[in-house]
Amino acid sequence: MRAVTFQGTKDIQVKNVADPVIQKKDDIIVRITSTAICGSDLHIYQGALPTTKDYVIGHEPMGIVEEVGPEVTRVKKGDRVVLPFNISCGQCFYCNHDMESQCDNSNPNPAIDTGGYFGFTERYGNHPGGQAELLRVPYGNFMPFVIPESCELEDEALLFMSDVLPTAYWSIESSGMKEGDTVAVLGCGPVGLMAQKFAWMKGAKRVIAIDNINYRLNHAATKNRAEVYNFDDFDNMGAHLKEITSGGVDVVVDCVGMDGKKSVVEKVEQKLKLQGGTLSPIEIGLYAVRKFGTIQLTGVYGSMYNMFPLGNIFERNVTLKMGQAPVIHYMPLLFDKIINQEFDPTEIITHRIPLEEAGNAYKTFNDHEDECIKVVLKP
Ligand code: NAD
Ligand code: ZN
Repeated sequence: MRAVTFQGTKDIQVKNVADPVIQKKDDIIVRITSTAICGSDLHIYQGALPTTKDYVIGHEPMGIVEEVGPEVTRVKKGDRVVLPFNISCGQCFYCNHDMESQCDNSNPNPAIDTGGYFGFTERYGNHPGGQAELLRVPYGNFMPFVIPESCELEDEALLFMSDVLPTAYWSIESSGMKEGDTVAVLGCGPVGLMAQKFAWMKGAKRVIAIDNINYRLNHAATKNRAEVYNFDDFDNMGAHLKEITSGGVDVVVDCVGMDGKKSVVEKVEQKLKLQGGTLSPIEIGLYAVRKFGTIQLTGVYGSMYNMFPLGNIFERNVTLKMGQAPVIHYMPLLFDKIINQEFDPTEIITHRIPLEEAGNAYKTFNDHEDECIKVVLKP
């Protein structure tokens, strides 16, 4: 089959790889019909999350069930399914307590006690990814979200149940945001844009959106009614947010994560010059948040993050929440919201591209070319 593979930093190529096969009795094989590129894939693309040559990436897939293992009862060949990015067994302590993103049976890597994810490197279980023609899905009696036959919506309306929508929704829930709160969302990529929508839905009084890419800020302003700021326009974006919210925002949601795009040298040079855009998202969040406020880290951080200002967080009674979203848990709720037309998930799609052209698509998304917000790949 054809699949999107990592060849090196900023080198993504579509190659022939072996078709996946049923390995366990409850596996299923899905023929992928649509699969998106995520900001998380950019961490791999940028080399911030190391992986090996030829590794198949991608974790936002949907498609048609092609084959089922002998113990699978939940789905049958021909069913239309969306797959959550986290692998989860449905039986361990974590899966039984709505914390499926840390399933105990999803990451065989003995070096790290975390959940496992499709297409997210050896560190997170070495599961081949879903930017491919076919995908082996473990735990076929738990993982797939089956689209009812009566649902006539196109893939594009449903695809983001695999990650972006549950992640954004969970970000707001996890942050403990209350009705009447002021929320600052850092990052106007797909996750941040959706988090802004869900903050309104949950009763925010004020939704502020930060980025330095103007077309994304425009999207936040026009589609999400957010109050927008370009962080390049400020020496200290966080201090400005504190000022305009009389004492600080209640909740900061970081939908940026590691900034693998800048080299360490570049970052240090910027700090010395103290120009706009010098602060990391966590630093902006810390300046912006009020005492007893919350910073929710949804943007991905891998292993070491040095110079972490723990003292400031402690002294000001700031709550830090973070982690990988337990996607599967939110799929039914979001499916209902999509069916009821409470919001339009397709708004963020700017590019529909054949899987074969994934190499260019990664560059377009990473470099913010052609006003790119979200790419859907079609195998
Ligand atoms: P994206 O790369 O499209 O968006 C990130 C945006 O942040 C960009 O528009 C960029 O210009 C902006 N940005 C960069 N530095 C900034 C700063 N200092 N302040 C404000 N904005 C800044 O990515 P995405 O698809 O929207 O994903 C966002 C993050 O969420 C990524 O880190 C991704 O890995 C993570 N993610 C986490 C989970 C989870 O379960 N926790 C799930 C999906 C994605
Ligand atoms: Zn993703």
